[in-house]
Amino acid sequence: MLNKIISEDNIQSAKKLINKADKIVIFSHRSPDGDAIGSSLGLYHFLNELGKQVNVIVPNDYPVFLNWMPDCDQILVDENNRELAKETVEAADLIFCLDFNGKKRVGTMEPLLDVSPVKKIMIDHHPDPESFCDITISHPEISSTSELIFRFICRMGDFELITKACAECIYAGMMTDTCAFTLNSNSPAIYYIISQLLEKDIDKDDIYAKTFNRNTENKMRFNGFVLLKRMKVLKRYKTAVITLSTDDIIKFGVQKGDTEGIVNLPMSIEDVTLSALFREEKDVIRISLRSKGFFPSNKIAKDIFGGGGHLNASGGEFHGSLDDAVAAFTKALPDYERLLT
Ligand code: 5GP
Ligand code: MN
Repeated sequence: MLNKIISEDNIQSAKKLINKADKIVIFSHRSPDGDAIGSSLGLYHFLNELGKQVNVIVPNDYPVFLNWMPDCDQILVDENNRELAKETVEAADLIFCLDFNGKKRVGTMEPLLDVSPVKKIMIDHHPDPESFCDITISHPEISSTSELIFRFICRMGDFELITKACAECIYAGMMTDTCAFTLNSNSPAIYYIISQLLEKDIDKDDIYAKTFNRNTENKMRFNGFVLLKRMKVLKRYKTAVITLSTDDIIKFGVQKGDTEGIVNLPMSIEDVTLSALFREEKDVIRISLRSKGFFPSNKIAKDIFGGGGHLNASGGEFHGSLDDAVAAFTKALPDYERLLT
């Protein structure tokens, strides 16, 4: 049996709102990852079983390695169809906000959230949620929003309504946010939940392969190039820095999703505690940070780049040149030296 972590008040209030709603919209964050898409589609399949009309909306496209998820082709991408996204949100009776804790994280969709008069329910696991929802189900101690969706559905009394498709999406979200159960994944409840998802006939080995074994030859060679030419290891600070210019990305013809896992590569170096990826985009530098143990990567993300995230996985952005972004980061490293070593 699972311990109850979501409060009974929140479950009952959410249940009332769901019962009253016909059209439900699920929002998730910009640059949606496996947990954003897994939790959103997991909830989508469940609400469909309840007979609701459901739409998942994200600000920009999800990476191709998630394109096997059941009904992912139903996801509305705001950037590709702003008019339809606006109309869909305007028609909604209820909005779920999944896997994000602040309105800024939905980028171009923030005005849609702001003007919508309907009730909003947040289900998320990032620390320090902002209070823009009527019900805030926030559990930073849980390693994925997808796990929270499983718990939410069970607490609604609806385990029976979890279909195989729903279970696949939930499993994929739990798997991706824990790096295939190698980070933040010591809670026995995770493995109880997996056993319950297996009862729904999911093939977890196939889900792993469909998600992670998706490299092209070109992508593998790009990884090699990046490690050889674009990674610097700052031994004193146990920090690896990778810079990717738009020229690099164009030269190798890699897609945005191809740069996803690169920040994780230096984490297998024994003496690296912090890994930072700086990726040049059209008008912004995006920063991804990963750390080991108790080192708060999200504090660096917030202090230097106005971003946020989890202790061990966070990000932010910088307006300026790639060199200036890296300089701002390396200049600040001595302030964190005590924590890094
Ligand atoms: P990734 O490096 O995979 O893009 O992001 C890792 C984590 O950092 C995610 O949990 C994401 O929510 C968070 N994150 C990434 N970029 C930002 C940002 O610009 N602002 C905030 N607040 N969080 C971010
Ligand atoms: Mn997540």
